[in-house]
Amino acid sequence: MNEGFPEERSAWLRCYRCWSERLEAQVHYDAILKVDPETGEAADRMEEIQEAVVQCLDCMHDQPHLTVEDSRVVPVEDRWERMVAGKPFVASCTVTVDQDQVETCSGPEAADSLTFGSLGESGTREFFTHVRFHKHDEERIVVHLLVELYARTEEEAIDVLEAAARGTLEITSLAEESRPPAHAADEAH
Ligand SMILES: [Zn+2]
Repeated sequence: MNEGFPEERSAWLRCYRCWSERLEAQVHYDAILKVDPETGEAADRMEEIQEAVVQCLDCMHDQPHLTVEDSRVVPVEDRWERMVAGKPFVASCTVTVDQDQVETCSGPEAADSLTFGSLGESGTREFFTHVRFHKHDEERIVVHLLVELYARTEEEAIDVLEAAARGTLEITSLAEESRPPAHAADEAH
């Protein structure tokens, strides 16, 4: 049903790039504390997870196919299988967006703004994205990008890019790369 990948934890609880199982979760909490009017004690701690990023301790890459729910790492349903079983694809592409989708196109924030404006959350969290340059065309901005993403087939890579694009996508080239070598357990030292 899913190309030989068992629905067990080891299928997804690993780095999507090097398949290492040595992971670390960086969790940021938002704490809301009730203040006791008698003592000033801030107790009744109500914690909510604000942001969780799982990282591989071997290759140090973020793991956007994993997230944290109720103190447990869980797979992101529409992402993990494609990323763990997939291969890296590198696309050279342009995304044409309305200029008000890009907060700023100059200064230190420009690359992040152009990435988010053109490819949304997938562009900033999942893909490795390099903005080569951008051009203004009246009310629109044409963003020229190099994108690395994981997919099982070329068609799937195109689908993922199309789903992420927040404007008109044009793919100039798309090439399959080889997966980084799998992490060998006995190399852990
Ligand atoms: Zn890794």
